Amino acid sequence: METPTLSIVAPCYNEQGNLIPLVTAIRDALEPLKISYEIVIADDVSRDDSWNILQKLGADDKRIRAVRLNRNCGQSAAVWAGIQAATGRFIATLDADLQNHPRELPRFLEAIQRGDSDCVCGSRVAARAQGDSWVRQVSSKIANGIRNRITQETVSDSACGYRIFKRECAARLKFFKGMHRFMPTLFRIEGFVVTEIPISHHTRLTGQSNYGVMNRLFVTIYDLFAVRWMQKRMFRFEVKEQINFPQAPPK
Ligand code: UDP
Ligand code: MG
Repeated sequence: METPTLSIVAPCYNEQGNLIPLVTAIRDALEPLKISYEIVIADDVSRDDSWNILQKLGADDKRIRAVRLNRNCGQSAAVWAGIQAATGRFIATLDADLQNHPRELPRFLEAIQRGDSDCVCGSRVAARAQGDSWVRQVSSKIANGIRNRITQETVSDSACGYRIFKRECAARLKFFKGMHRFMPTLFRIEGFVVTEIPISHHTRLTGQSNYGVMNRLFVTIYDLFAVRWMQKRMFRFEVKEQINFPQAPPK
């Protein structure tokens, strides 16, 4: 099978009302580009009709692929499962609820193809008020402030699910529960160049958010120290020379 230029990966938990509009919006955004692409949706064991809808979507269009986990594991696991299933040269991730619209994908593809970044992340900071309550706006500001202070980063919206990266980045990403909130830093730990561009932000099309202050802000603080530890302690090296090996060292 031909390698698609782009894989679009979306985690899905109880998104029955959003899946058809999501797929339609992705098609509308990408068809004019005349590129090969696939849509990979990772169902985190939704309790609604999402999986049935995905089966129908997949039967009608082979570019729509889906995986279903064996148990509900959370957003990071669903994103990770989707990334692992993706075969494209570039991988874009976005949430399934259309809070950040697929029409922005061409701009992200153009930015990554320019070649000066390995990963381009969306930033909802300027548009946050259009899609989130004031509690979410404040908690996100606090979370990003604390994250940046501890990890000595300057990422404005670390947990934004909208991003695009080269497939080499995926191969080196370290997976853990909560990973999706630290992906810019996790890529930088591996030596990749990460940039941010602003995106628009909207309220959910249908369905409910899975997070409140308690299961986002506090758990993030715990993960934060693990990421700080990784920044300080993880090795990054390449084998430079070797003896009696049939192939050149991997790049
Ligand atoms: N999600 C998931 N598993 C979960 C929680 C969320 O796969 O346990 C998915 C969800 O379907 C959505 C994305 O992760 O596509 C972001 O979730 P949500 O919209 O609830 O987060 P928020 O935008 O409120 O931060
Ligand atoms: Mg959402």
